[in-house]
Amino acid sequence: MGVLLCPVCLSRRVVLYLGGYAGKIYKCQDCGYVGPLILEVDEDEYKKLVDKMARHQAQPPVR
Ligand SMILES: [Zn+2]
Repeated sequence: MGVLLCPVCLSRRVVLYLGGYAGKIYKCQDCGYVGPLILEVDEDEYKKLVDKMARHQAQPPVR
């Protein structure tokens, strides 16, 4: 089973905004992103992504 993710903020709160002849447009309820590009990952990949992001935030890059 896939999880839909916002490509901007990786939120799962992505809904189908428009669906029609031209394709589907999605909307992120967290950051307001609207567009055809969406990430679809499975539950495992999602956990890895969130884990990676959390670690990234905890350790800011050293400059
Ligand atoms: Zn978003």
